[in-house]
Amino acid sequence: MTCSLVHRRWQLEGQLQGVGFRPFVYRVARELGICGFVRNDCSSVTIEAQGEPDLLEQFIMRICRELPPAGRIMHISREELPLVELSGFEIRASRGDSRRRPVVTVDTAVCDDCLRELFDASDFRYRYPLINCTNCGPRYSIIRAMPYDRINTTMRHFQLCEKCHQQYANPIDRRFHAQPVACHTCGPRVGLHDMAGGDICWDSAISAAARLLGDGRIIAIKGIGGFHLACRADDEQAVTTLRARKARDAKPFALMCANIDVARRLVHLGAEAQRELTSPAAPILLARKRALAGIIAPSVAMGNHSLGVMLPYTPLHHLLFAELAPRVDLLVMTSANLTDEPLVKDNDEAVARLKGIADAILLHERDIERSIDDSVLLDMGAGRRPLPIRRARGYVPGIIRLINHPRRKHTEGLCVGGELKNSIAVVRDDEVILSHHLGDLKHALAYEYFRKAIEDMCRLFEVRPAWIAHDLHPAYLSTQWARELAAKLDVPLIGVQHHHAHAAAVLAEHGIAETALAIVCDGVGYGTDGTAWGGELLLVNGASFARLAHLRPIPLAGGDAAARDTRRCAAGVLWESGASLDGLLDDRPEQAMLSAMLERGTNVVRSSAAGRLFDAVAAILGVCMTNTHEAQAAMALESLASSAGPVKQLRIPPAKDLDLLPYIAALRERRARGEEVAQLAAEFHEYFARSWAAATIDAAHATGVKIVGLSGGVFCNEIVTRRIAELLDLAGLRVLRHEVVPPNDGGLSLGQAAIALAREDV
Ligand code: ZN
Ligand code: ZN
Ligand code: FE
Repeated sequence: MTCSLVHRRWQLEGQLQGVGFRPFVYRVARELGICGFVRNDCSSVTIEAQGEPDLLEQFIMRICRELPPAGRIMHISREELPLVELSGFEIRASRGDSRRRPVVTVDTAVCDDCLRELFDASDFRYRYPLINCTNCGPRYSIIRAMPYDRINTTMRHFQLCEKCHQQYANPIDRRFHAQPVACHTCGPRVGLHDMAGGDICWDSAISAAARLLGDGRIIAIKGIGGFHLACRADDEQAVTTLRARKARDAKPFALMCANIDVARRLVHLGAEAQRELTSPAAPILLARKRALAGIIAPSVAMGNHSLGVMLPYTPLHHLLFAELAPRVDLLVMTSANLTDEPLVKDNDEAVARLKGIADAILLHERDIERSIDDSVLLDMGAGRRPLPIRRARGYVPGIIRLINHPRRKHTEGLCVGGELKNSIAVVRDDEVILSHHLGDLKHALAYEYFRKAIEDMCRLFEVRPAWIAHDLHPAYLSTQWARELAAKLDVPLIGVQHHHAHAAAVLAEHGIAETALAIVCDGVGYGTDGTAWGGELLLVNGASFARLAHLRPIPLAGGDAAARDTRRCAAGVLWESGASLDGLLDDRPEQAMLSAMLERGTNVVRSSAAGRLFDAVAAILGVCMTNTHEAQAAMALESLASSAGPVKQLRIPPAKDLDLLPYIAALRERRARGEEVAQLAAEFHEYFARSWAAATIDAAHATGVKIVGLSGGVFCNEIVTRRIAELLDLAGLRVLRHEVVPPNDGGLSLGQAAIALAREDV
């Protein structure tokens, strides 16, 4: 042994278990001729190695750089050890003693190696629809308890055959300890359930399903986190039938494309968006659509400028497209559930709940432990990272670390999120683990799912909440449940203001703990004064915030009813700016009633929510009169605006004081005078962005604060987000927008966590 040898230990944290990390380390060590071992320690991975210092440096660099696709390193610590006698490199058995911080990995799209085997006639898993390995396949959706071993997954009933077991037990095999490993002989089968006949056919199920799809039928398909409903995207009759049967309004359907070339034919994809689309997370990407006449049926995405596309991500999807080729390379793929309810996940449940909706169900025998939707991201254009809209499959339960954050004494806690697009979060030390999108809690099924998710996550991640954070809104079901739970557990409650939480979420993503400004624009949130907020300029300092400015509120007749009826928002704007309501509603008695309500102020709620201004403009320009789904009018308005192209000049100066009402009221006359509505819609977006930029730049001068976070559901609007960011950037401010959690209420629980950890009074 020469004295130039060193002995070193690295402790690696991150997503490293169940991703083929140890065999990978083993291979690299063997290639470099390094002695030592690698071992899983439940929450981290330990590597010890002895060799020349240069070689060890090369070793750890390669490990960081060449990581398996599903792996992620979040933290490495290094320690020098005394030299010992070592020979060879080995994979040591897991040590279960330090089981303090279990880490679960995400569900991952089928990898290239498995795909090759899937279509290789000489491989024993040729055409096996549930093929997977340590680099790919289901994880979070099949795990029942920690540690992540087969016995703790929904694969526990399937006994490995000899061939599979050999691979499973071989440290240098790609399937070493791949828990869901299976084959034709030993694994779950795929079958086609005929809804008319009522029985399951286990032979040639996939080709039978492909035939039915080709003929224009609607087929439910079991994926990773639940069932989809699928039909041909070029068959107008099939698409309208699907819409009718699912009782789905005008909301666009997502499309699954046979491959990336098909996707590129449909939408414009920037490099960043394409990278995300083809990543192991395999999300739905919303991108600007091309001229598609004749390629997709008109009712797939009516009147929308963007289209959601995804790629096949299970081997079953790939086999299906292989059968459909070359006639069909595009399928409508929509979650098999009612909007904002949890996805259908069990075979029996699918048969019961999809009666009258699907003609047949393509299912398999691998159970899904928790239903997880597809994730949705929005393409923000070249050079910008896509914006998360719905965070679910492929991203959860990824850990978000709060960098630079003050630590409380009891750091284990629970955040229950908001009400719409709910997500919850468990907190341990500086780690926040967000649940997937749980839906709208007002739906009974989603509320039940929310309560189960709390139990599930606390158990799985071994978190015993010492506090519970919730939204200030007293009527949110999440708030009510937080109260019950806090009483039961005898722990303190931490109420967090809605927009403060939005702001804290975007700051937390970027590791900002210092004082920052935030523009928070959304549909509605409960203010500290008990009124409805939603267009706020905040000065945020950890656990506290100041409301520096806000949009001028409008009176909304009928309160919540105004969120559905955009004309009520228009009436509020016109009324408040002293303009006439005449002719706004076709129905005269209705209009008289509305006027009377505004006059007397009975059942009128004042709201500073930005979302309501978009609604008002949509109504005034005749774009959309009812919101059958959240933000429908705003999205229609954005589509219209983007058809007009960018606006260079404003005719009137922006509203520095955030009073946009006179401008909006005047749009009515301008439209009546014959100005083009698309142009007006585009101009409103520019006016909105410039007004916010002006107000924010003023506040930055006044406070000396140079960081601005953008959050709230309105920042799902690409034009608004891009323009405000550009304008603030030009003014020398540092602009932060969401890249990890959604700007909408799906990201609230992260903000609640950041604020709760900064609070010292609880
Ligand atoms: Zn694989
Ligand atoms: Zn097998
Ligand atoms: Fe919100």
